[in-house]
This record gives sequence, C-alpha cells and structure tokens, in this order.
Amino acid sequence: MQANMTGQQNPLVVVGTVAIDSIKTPFGEQEKVFGGSASYFSYAASFFNQVALVGVVGQDFPEEYRAVLQERPIDLSNLKTVAGKTFAWKGFYENDMNSAKTLETHLNVLASFDPEMELKQDPEFVFLANIDPVLQLKVLDQLPKTKLRFTACDTMNYWISSKKEDLLRVLARVDGFVLNDAEARQLTGEPNLVRAAQIIRGYGPGHVIIKKGEHGVLVFAQNRFFALPAYPLETVFDPTGAGDSFAGGLMGYLALTKDTGFDNLKKAAAYGTIIASFAVEEFGLEKLRKISRRHLDERLEVFRQISAF
Ligand code: AMP
Repeated sequence: MQANMTGQQNPLVVVGTVAIDSIKTPFGEQEKVFGGSASYFSYAASFFNQVALVGVVGQDFPEEYRAVLQERPIDLSNLKTVAGKTFAWKGFYENDMNSAKTLETHLNVLASFDPEMELKQDPEFVFLANIDPVLQLKVLDQLPKTKLRFTACDTMNYWISSKKEDLLRVLARVDGFVLNDAEARQLTGEPNLVRAAQIIRGYGPGHVIIKKGEHGVLVFAQNRFFALPAYPLETVFDPTGAGDSFAGGLMGYLALTKDTGFDNLKKAAAYGTIIASFAVEEFGLEKLRKISRRHLDERLEVFRQISAF
C-alpha cells in the first residue's frame, strides 16, 4: 500500500467490465489478455485510493487474473463469479493507435448480470465505467446518498449505438462524464468538440472530460475550460485501457483529496494522463504492475515542465 494511503479511506466504488481480451497492435498480438474497463480503472485508481470493484466474471476467469487485482488495495467482495463465460472483447489497432476497432464483443455473463452491491461504507466517489448503461442505472439506483460527493461515468460507441436512451438516463443523474472525441461526436452529432461538450452538459453532467488519445484531453467544468496535452511517448505498445486508466487516475486522485474544485480537477486530469502514459507502454496491465506512486510523481514533474509556459 502507498505511504500516503491511510487504512481508513472511503473506497472509490467502480462498476465496469472485467474481461478477457484479444488484442492486435502493429507491435504484436496477444490472446487472453486480462482487461476490462473496471480492471484497468481499479488498478490505476488504487495508486491513490482504496477501490471497491463491482462486476461479474464467469467460471473460466483465471485465478491469476484475480491475483493481479489482489496485489492492490482493491476490494473484490462485489466481484461475482457466476456460471458461464467471462465478458470477452477482441480488437485491433492499425497505424492510428487512437482508435480501437472492435472485431468481437461477447457479453457472456454480463448479459444477465444484476449488480447487487453490498458496500462496507456509504461511498463518496463512484465511477460507472464502460458497461451496459442499464447496469450503470442499477448501480445508481442502489447508491446510498448520505455521503455521496461525486459520480461520473464512461461509455463506448457500442452502447451509444445500442442503448442511447438508457445512456441519456445515466447522464441525467451523474456529475461527470469521461468520454473520447469520437464518442462525443457520435453521441451529439456535433463535429466541433467545444460545442459537443456544451450539448453534453445539457444532458446533465456539469463536468465533461473529452479524451483525444495522443492529442490530450479537454476538461469542461464549472463554466471553465482546461486543455492538457498527452505525455509524449516514443513507443505506444498497446493503447487498450488508456481511457480506463486515465479515468482511474483522475477519480482516484479526486477520491484521495476529496476536492472536486476546478484547480484540483486539473491536477487529477494530469495524474490521469500520466498513469495512462504508463499503461500503454506494455500489453494489458503489465506496465502498471511494475510502477509505484513515485514513478507517477516523477513523470508528472516532467509533464509539468513540458506543458507550462
Ligand atoms: P479503453 O480504455 O477504452 O481502451 O478500454 C479497453 C477495455 O474496454 C478492454 O479491456 C475491453 O475489455 C473493454 N471493453 C471493450 N468493449 C466493451 C464494451 N462494449 N463494454 C464494456 N467494456 C468494453
């Protein structure tokens, strides 16, 4: 556990996919990679704050994948194992490493998942990672409101195409929305991202964070605007999980500091950028497993120097 992480934290709650991925990039191809939106998110957020993961896997879920999450302060008591196969995604990247092309999505156990949660504490920070918006709604319905400070969500083209109405219901009920540029354009039909963000704020979330892959991130919140570049890397090995790791770093830092003011949001977005930059340097979660909070802080300092003037 990190030195600045107390034993008494209020865990950041995340619901999302825990997956078995197959990934092809210009640098290589790997079957059965441990992935999923909640897996990347939890691992990244756990550098800052304790996490409680809500999700489902099938009986085929390898014990060694569970062990990866257990390396970190991630509570898995709401990760259910049910009969059937784990959610599986197959995708590839061509020379444009910013956009994944989906080849196969097998919902498997996700299709009949009912996310009934038993939380040890009423949560303050909650993230609805990329998953069926109907499940995101079920989690929102169950959330005790006593301590709740900030809820945010993510999504993907798959759900915008198939469940837009449910997604709009989610957006009406969350404080923040983290999505990428293509998703913002698809959801709103608006090619200009500044205008798309305004439209999205009209759907409900006051904080809209649009990721642009290697071109950085735009933060719209509290009637203010902030732009960050990406951390310039020479080698992007596997971009899978970059968005989830970004969201994990951002939300983990907010949960740690309990401050959702604009200046702190900027710093949280910077930490999200840094942790995503590590995530893409190797396949799956491998790089994140090799680093510590010290590596994040060192790269954050370099990032500060190259982006301030
Ligand atoms: P990203 O951060 O956007 O690269 O997310 C990559 C992860 O999203 C992969 O590990 C996949 O397992 C997961 N994923 C792919 N398709 C979906 C989907 N339709 N719903 C939820 N998670 C997905």
